Amino acid sequence: MQQAPDVHQAEPIPDAARDAVEALLQSGDLFRYTAPENAPVSLLETEFAALIGARYALAVSSCSAALFLSLKALGLPRDARVLIPGFTFAAVPSSVVHADCVPVLCEVGDDYRVDLDDFTAKLENVQAVIISHMRGHTSDMDAIMAACDARNVPVIEDAAHSLGTRWGGRNIGTIGRAGCFSFQSYKMINAGEGGIMVSDDADLIARAVILSGAYEHNWKKHPVLQDAFARWQNRLPLYNLRMSNLAAAVIRPQLPELARRVRQGRANHDHVAARLSASPWIEVPTPLPGEERAPDSIQFNLRGLSDDQTRAFVEAAAARGVGVQVFGMSTDNARAFWNWRFLPDLPDLPRTRAMLMRACDVRLPVHLDRAELDLIADILLDAVNEAAGPARAFGT
Ligand SMILES: *Cc1c(COP(=O)(O)O)cnc(C)c1O
Repeated sequence: MQQAPDVHQAEPIPDAARDAVEALLQSGDLFRYTAPENAPVSLLETEFAALIGARYALAVSSCSAALFLSLKALGLPRDARVLIPGFTFAAVPSSVVHADCVPVLCEVGDDYRVDLDDFTAKLENVQAVIISHMRGHTSDMDAIMAACDARNVPVIEDAAHSLGTRWGGRNIGTIGRAGCFSFQSYKMINAGEGGIMVSDDADLIARAVILSGAYEHNWKKHPVLQDAFARWQNRLPLYNLRMSNLAAAVIRPQLPELARRVRQGRANHDHVAARLSASPWIEVPTPLPGEERAPDSIQFNLRGLSDDQTRAFVEAAAARGVGVQVFGMSTDNARAFWNWRFLPDLPDLPRTRAMLMRACDVRLPVHLDRAELDLIADILLDAVNEAAGPARAFGT
């Protein structure tokens, strides 16, 4: 049997990062606010904002920190209700709790996107919204922005796993009041850890800059409206969630690689999606009109399989060397809302639950070649045929 490819192997960091890190090790200048100007973190903020099409960017320690700071910068009162999708990573409700707010969960459909009926119904009672573009699947941002703008509810985009995705020609993360991205190793740009917040709102970003730990007059090193900073001097807590120059030195040389990674990731995904869609047992949700995806993994739903058959599929794929995670079936999965037991009033979300019990997740890192992608597709198709059983595979 052919060896299945290693989907956990990362792409090497570009050589230019080595020189930048070496220079930092020589100078010892690792803190973003030591140098009077042009610190790697500041340069990253300017470059990232230009790349994504936002006016301002603030680099921080993680996407979770960016989400937390976005909520805090909105000035939400304690116990403000924040609407989030019921299908997201546990870090998202956690950032809401961290910001002293209360997460309100809304249903997510079989296509991994926010259920707009449930969303609109719950919007009446919330003070802010976080939209997670989970695994890069973009919800209908036109409908969401129209509904939120009509009620004056601010939208924060959790674009942690969506860097490079576009909606109606705009980069995801630039549509809401603020957008948050991750540089954790499993995302499109890898610094181990790291995050960045973008916004066009000078006052919002000024508050976030101070909250992130620009103590005393360090905010003068941010090219944002200085009036806004002066207004907030000494009036906000300093949470110290800054990014280190070392992380920025590793991230900056990857920015020019983004377009290629997005192109390759999409081609890889679409190739495997087309092959899997040939199976009567597998449904791969298609992008919404206006959505251009940037995937580094594939999600698909098993159709017509029982719980036991679903488990048999996961085992059959694993026996052939391909790891499949069914979000709702793997033990303690951080993306299954019923495992967020740190929340006091966990609702039941029957639609989201049903989706999670059949939604499969397979990593497809952009470095895979066509033969490796075909091998993964062959294995998944063999495994589903075996699990669904010969009687059913022959069309009864
Ligand atoms: C990875 C991820 C996060 C958290 O990012 P960190 O940088 O690790 O804090 C949040 N939301 C989604 C959808 C993610 O995929």
